[in-house]
Amino acid sequence: MISLKNAAISGRIEHHVPLSKMTWLRVGGEASCMFHPNDAQDLSEFLQQFPQKNTHILGAGSNILVRDGGVAGCVIKMGKGFRTFHATDTHIDVGAGLLDRYVADRCQKLGLSGLEFMTTIPGTIGGGLAMNASCYGAGFADRLVHANVMDPFGKIHILLPQELNYGYRSCGLPSGWIFLSARFLCTPSEPDGIALTMAEMDLQRKKTQPIMVKTGGSTFANPQKGSAWEWLDQAGFRGKKLGQAMFSEKHCNFLINLGDASAKDLETLAEQAKKAVFDQSGVTLRWEIVRWGAHSAAV
Ligand SMILES: Cc1cc2nc3c(=O)[nH]c(=O)nc-3n(C[C@H](O)[C@H](O)[C@H](O)COP(=O)(O)OP(=O)(O)OC[C@H]3O[C@@H](n4cnc5c(N)ncnc54)[C@H](O)[C@@H]3O)c2cc1C
Repeated sequence: MISLKNAAISGRIEHHVPLSKMTWLRVGGEASCMFHPNDAQDLSEFLQQFPQKNTHILGAGSNILVRDGGVAGCVIKMGKGFRTFHATDTHIDVGAGLLDRYVADRCQKLGLSGLEFMTTIPGTIGGGLAMNASCYGAGFADRLVHANVMDPFGKIHILLPQELNYGYRSCGLPSGWIFLSARFLCTPSEPDGIALTMAEMDLQRKKTQPIMVKTGGSTFANPQKGSAWEWLDQAGFRGKKLGQAMFSEKHCNFLINLGDASAKDLETLAEQAKKAVFDQSGVTLRWEIVRWGAHSAAV
């Protein structure tokens, strides 16, 4: 149990926090503790005083499946103090806790083009940088100038995209390091044109993906050959259910919690699909959704 009583730390600490309320899939157990740093200085103090062996950073929880046994150790929730926004004519500096849609909206109003794709990704800037999120031909790594990151000892570093070793849905930030903020390149453009592009992306999303459901987005990353949804479709997993877990009829790479699915139902169904695809075609699907924690709680 971490107590902040005598520590020079102003952020909030909570114990036994149900993570199901903080992730899009709405499943899973508790975080044994959660720290809400007020800002980077606060986070640094915390890491120096309470070194973490196994850090879990939570953004908007749109890409995480928390297992039923919950997460031992401390989850760090990137909140208010990490929602800064500063713009010039050529770039923006944004905090890791800002929602992607908010950043896209602000840029649109300021006539800054290049980050329109963020409008349909339901995560935070930190989560997008960690996952190298992308859609409609654009992604986080493409427009990144540099990122401010904190190492597990509370020290801040500025890293260039090439130092982050970005790949498709992958980022080389070492485990335990945390994105604090980032600078992205923008191009001046007409706000109306930017708004139109964003509206088209929204429309496309509504046509092709399930909306207003408990999901983690794409379950698997696309393999080198074909799309994950095509392999899942061929293996018969479109609309396939296990308990209250289901692969979407509309976009069969989207795993959905129909109501009160357990994390185990969701993960088991996805693992069955992965095995079926491999058995049928020899293609190995890689999880895109990040899985946290243990299958059952420690006793
Ligand atoms: C409906 C839906 C649609 C989606 N569409 C897309 C899409 O089009 N393209 C796409 O790429 N993804 C998509 N996703 C997946 C997801 O939204 C993205 O991966 C998003 O960038 C995750 O951001 P987050 O803040 O929710 O991260 P979380 O889910 O909270 O975390 C994801 C990972 O990032 C790490 N992380 C979060 N913040 C930080 C930080 N500050 N520093 C270090 N690590 C951090 C976490 O530890 C975790 O490993 C979709 C998801 C949903 C539910």
